[in-house]
Amino acid sequence: MNVILVGPPGAGKGTQAQRLQETYGLKHLSTGDMLRAEVAAGSAVGRQAKAIMDRGELVPDEILIKMIGERITQPDAAKGFLLDGFPRTVGQAEALDQMLAGRKVTLDHVIQLVVNNDAMVERISGRFSCKTCGAGYHDTFKKTKKPGVCDACGGTEFVRRPDDKPETVRTRLEAYDRQTAPLLPYYQAKGVLRAVDGMAAIDDVTKKLGLLLKAA
Ligand code: ADP
Ligand code: ADP
Ligand code: ZN
Repeated sequence: MNVILVGPPGAGKGTQAQRLQETYGLKHLSTGDMLRAEVAAGSAVGRQAKAIMDRGELVPDEILIKMIGERITQPDAAKGFLLDGFPRTVGQAEALDQMLAGRKVTLDHVIQLVVNNDAMVERISGRFSCKTCGAGYHDTFKKTKKPGVCDACGGTEFVRRPDDKPETVRTRLEAYDRQTAPLLPYYQAKGVLRAVDGMAAIDDVTKKLGLLLKAA
C-alpha cells in the first residue's frame, strides 16, 4: 500500500505517519526530515535549501523530485510508503505519477488532513521533538509523560525547529494555500483523495486513518 498525507504545516502529518508506519509496515518518508538531514550534513543540496527553508518557502521542484526518486526505489520502501510533505506542488505530483507508472506502482490513497489554518500557528509554536529518536511532542497537546524525558527512548534532550517561529509559519501557510492546495483537485480527479478531520484529538485522528486504511 502506498499513501500520501497532505495538509498544511501543523496538520499532524508527521505525528500520524510515525504511528501508521508501525501499524501498517509502511516506510515513512518525510521530505522535510530529509532536507534537514542534508542541511545538517552541509551537503550541496543542504547548502542550497537552508536559506529557502529558513524563509518558509518551498525548495525547487527539481531538487525534491531527484531526492524522492532516489529514496522510493530503496528496498525499505518496496512494501509500501507513506509520504509526508511530498508532493507539495502539482509539478511534483506529476513527476511522482511518472516515476510510479514507470515502475508499475500504484498510489492507493491521498489523505487530506482537514484543519483550520488559523489554529496551526498555535500547534506549530508548541512543537518540539526528541533529539535522540525524533519522537514528536507538543507543549499543550502532547506532553511527555514524565517532564523532560522522552516517552519513546528516555532521552532528555529536545529540539525545536528554527522555521517554527510565528512569522515563518505564516509564510509556510501561504505557500500551502498557493502552491500545495491545488493538489487536492488534482488527486480528486484521479479518484484517490480521502479526507480526515485533522482538528480531532490525536488518537481519534489515528483511529479514523486506521479505518480508512483497513477498508483498503
Ligand atoms: P505536520 O507534520 O503536519 O507539520 P506535526 O505532526 O508535526 O504536523 O504536528 C504539529 C504539532 O501539533 C506537534 O507538536 C504535534 O504534537 C501537534 N499535533 C499533531 N496532531 C494534533 C492534533 N490532532 N491535535 C492537537 N495537536 C496535534
Ligand atoms: P511541515 O512539518 O511544516 O509540514 P516539513 O518538515 O514538511 O514542514 O518541511 C519543512 C520545509 O522543508 C518546508 O517549509 C520547505 O521549505 C521544505 N520542503 C519540505 N518538503 C518539500 C517539498 N516537497 N517541496 C518543497 N519544499 C519542501
Ligand atoms: Zn526519544
